[in-house]
This record gives sequence, structure tokens and C-alpha cells, in this order.
Amino acid sequence: MKIEVLTLFPNMFDGVMSESMMWKARDRGLLDFSARDIRDYSGDKHRKVDDSPYGGGGGMILKADVLLRAIEALEPEADTPVILLSPQGRLLTHEAAAELSRRERLILVCGHYEGVDERVRELAISDEISIGDYVLTGGELAAMVLIDAVVRLIPGVLGAEGAQQRDSHADGLLEGPHYTRPPEVRGLTVPEVLTSGHHAEVERWRRQQALKRTWLRRPELLERAELSEADREYLAQLAAGAAD
Ligand code: SAM
Repeated sequence: MKIEVLTLFPNMFDGVMSESMMWKARDRGLLDFSARDIRDYSGDKHRKVDDSPYGGGGGMILKADVLLRAIEALEPEADTPVILLSPQGRLLTHEAAAELSRRERLILVCGHYEGVDERVRELAISDEISIGDYVLTGGELAAMVLIDAVVRLIPGVLGAEGAQQRDSHADGLLEGPHYTRPPEVRGLTVPEVLTSGHHAEVERWRRQQALKRTWLRRPELLERAELSEADREYLAQLAAGAAD
């Protein structure tokens, strides 16, 4: 996958994109990443990229001509998603990340100040994504969150074990608890089933723990999750106080 970011702060990406799984994805040739400075397209000797809003009201707006030049310089194909990070966009969910992870190329545009001139949205943006119902000072952190969520889903980026298929939200549920050595920590022990060696029992326990955790913390997710007859029975028992 090729990801190109347009930003006023390309250096902000250095740490995140040079460590851990993002670096491994690049190192293995699974991700071609670049961050380009929007100022390079200002066409102005002072590298000015913003101006005050028509109608007043304070704050500065990223100029349309500058951003349009920057996007056009990347020569997006007709089907390349050109995504503006925006608190007004659709929410970044597992489904959205999974859909983006199947694309060959993404262009991410990071806003700043009060935002971008509306005509950029109309002329050059194909999608707007928000990472949550709050406002950041710029789109860079949101772009990094999106990149991480998307790139880890590209086949080959994480190990082959497929553990990410059990991760929270991947199948509509939250994941249950994890334990590792030692078997006892300050009087707290590991659930016996996990050391029993019974693969089927471990899987059943994990599924029930995921259902329980989702039921306790995010019950609304259960309405959309794919549930088996056994799942429904277990949830009914939980609700009746007949299971733990
Ligand atoms: N005035 C804008 C509004 O009320 O919708 C907010 C602008 S915000 C201060 C500056 C930039 O940060 C935005 O253009 C966007 O790129 C980014 N941003 C802020 N919050 C975000 C969020 N929740 N998700 C994604 N990007 C966000």
C-alpha cells in the first residue's frame, strides 16, 4: 500500500512511522509512506498557506489554491481515496479501517487552524474521516491513528497467527482478558481452563469472556454482532445471573 500525507508538519510522522509495526511494514515493502509539506505548494515566497475567513470570526483557514495544488501534484488516480481528516467526517471504525486496508493507495490531507477552505472538500476530497467526537489542533495525530489502524490489517504486517481476528471490534465484540506467566500474581491466579490444554474449551471460554465483556461494557455492540445460538444462550444466562 502507498500512503501519502499532506501536512504542515511532516516531521511529526518521523517517530511513529520509524518504530514498531509501522516500520516493519515499511521495511518489509508492504507500506510505501511519505509525508509532504503543504508549504511546498504555497506558490508564495513567504510560504504562506492560510488566510483569514471571509465574514470574519477569527482563526485562519488553509487556502484552497495551495491545497488543490498539493493534492494535484500527487496525481491521484480516479479511484484513489483522497481523505480529509476532519472532526466532521464519518467515524473511524474497524469496518472503515478494514475497507481502507484493501486499497492500494491512500492520500491523507491534514487540516490545521480553523480548517480548510470548503471548496477543497467540493473539488478534491472523496472522503472525510474523524477519529472521535472531539477536536484536535491538527489532522496529523488523526492521520497517524488512521494509518496504524489500517496498516496493521494489511496481510503480512502482523504475525501469521491471526490473533488480530480476535481483537476488539474485529468481529463486533470486545476481546476478553489475557494472562501470561507467572501463574500467580499477588494472590491472583490464572483461570484453570487456560492451562488445561483443552483447545476447544479454551476457545469456548474466550468466546464467552468476549461476550461477557461486551455485554458489561458496550452492550449496544451486541445488537450488530453475529451471534450463534450458543452465544445467545450464554448471554441469556448472563442476564439471568445464571452464568459467570
Ligand atoms: N473548525 C473545525 C470544526 O469545528 O470542524 C475544526 C478544525 S481543527 C481545530 C483543525 C484540524 O484538525 C481539522 O481541519 C482536522 O484536519 C483536524 N482534526 C481535528 N479534530 C479531528 C478529529 N476528531 N478527527 C480527525 N481530524 C481532526
